Amino acid sequence: MNGRVAFVGAGPGDPGLLTARALELIALADVILYDRLIPQSALAGARSDAELRYVGKEGGGPSVAQEEIEALMLERALGGALVVRLKGGDPFVFGRGGEEALALAAAGVPFEVVPGVTAGVAAAAYAGIPVTHRGLASAVALITAHEDPAKEETAIDWAALAAFPGTLVFYMGVRTLPALTARLIEAGRPGGQPAAVVARGTLPDQQVVLGTLAAIAESAAQAGVSAPAVTIVGEVAKLAGELAWVTAGPLAGASVVVTRARAQASELATRLRRLGASVIEAPAIRIEPTSEALPPLAGFDLVCLTSPNGVELLFERLGARGEDARALAGATVAAIGPGTARALREHGVIADVVPERFVAEGLVDSLAGVEVSRALIARAASARDVLPDALRERGAEVTIVDLYDTVAEPIGELAAPAIAAADYVTFTSSSTVRFFLASASLGEHTRVVSIGPVTSETLRERGLTVHVEASRHDIDGLIDAIVADRTGVGA
Ligand code: SAH
Repeated sequence: MNGRVAFVGAGPGDPGLLTARALELIALADVILYDRLIPQSALAGARSDAELRYVGKEGGGPSVAQEEIEALMLERALGGALVVRLKGGDPFVFGRGGEEALALAAAGVPFEVVPGVTAGVAAAAYAGIPVTHRGLASAVALITAHEDPAKEETAIDWAALAAFPGTLVFYMGVRTLPALTARLIEAGRPGGQPAAVVARGTLPDQQVVLGTLAAIAESAAQAGVSAPAVTIVGEVAKLAGELAWVTAGPLAGASVVVTRARAQASELATRLRRLGASVIEAPAIRIEPTSEALPPLAGFDLVCLTSPNGVELLFERLGARGEDARALAGATVAAIGPGTARALREHGVIADVVPERFVAEGLVDSLAGVEVSRALIARAASARDVLPDALRERGAEVTIVDLYDTVAEPIGELAAPAIAAADYVTFTSSSTVRFFLASASLGEHTRVVSIGPVTSETLRERGLTVHVEASRHDIDGLIDAIVADRTGVGA
């Protein structure tokens, strides 16, 4: 038996706080059992054939009993799998990681533990609060407070906490805050002591509420903070006034749905997040390579690539028969846009032609002065015929190879409420429009963002209003258009 389990902390939410070892294990895992509070993009690096299973206990979905999780983990590990048990924050801080590890130890299954950045410390840091500080706090306590006030009674020694000489960090539901602060004050903690609530710490929509222990519950309620949140009580909380360092990006507070295929979504999602948006990844399509034969490239004087996917698959096919970039030597290489040109460059080929408008019509215009007798167009199966038609009209002999098909990726029910409440939904191709609308619907106030005129046309055909259309038809242009719409610049 080579199976084993890795308890991996995924950090508090910002994907940048995943450790190097966490990313390594996610990429290696045969099975990943994950909880709710992990960064959305944490699974992006998993193997495409890995079993990914949500075993979270709260929020929307059905809850999985602890015994069931342990049984599943044991079964997979005993079957020889590398199981990653992925938990928010640190696996051994209020994560029941210890219990699960005991079950493995009892069964003799080997395991490793990858600590993570725990929410209490990270959320405090992102709010500008050092949990210890010379002269203010030389100790810190991490405390879990149950949702059920009846349980608090037995679990927490309030007198001891009130007397604790240092910072108190409560991991808790927002609802327990009034009871908690009242208890602490009752037990002798000064009501005037600084306190802070940090909700969705380290995430783009992080919310920080500052105040005193006596007033913080009321302020948090007024600010409408929502879970997950931590509450920090102690003199260090006042440092937030001077040390707050997270600046809101232009898309702070905006939620944006990304519908493109999972494999391509990460660049767009990451860049939106860096601008402060909270991103909902709802891939509507999947790329499926076809088995259509690729003819020998010698003899073509023009090779056209119409997407980065096309480039990747072309080189995969070439590689499979022992060829490389030199197969394109001698031909004029045309890319439909900068993304495609970039993908070519990564394979050592500099595109000769990149149009100024990144649509088939633009490519046709840019090819006006290029001599063509035999052209190869490597593209998606459902692509429009604008380019081959125009080349044929000019007397060229055109061969089309459909390298891949774009197929529907059903959007899970769990994503539906987030999609309906989103501020923006982005469409980067007609196929994302068609397949997205087949399994999801838009909210009343959601603004529809299109990458360009062809996608917009498809949206309008489906009866939708296009609120934002990128004037530059690539990812940069799409992001610029959303920022302009959000900030009212250039609108
Ligand atoms: N193992 C985790 C904690 C799990 S308990 C860790 O080490 O961080 C879940 C609680 O953690 C939530 O109820 C909330 O209090 C806190 N939490 C998790 N993510 C958070 C975040 N991004 N911001 C604030 N609190 C968070």
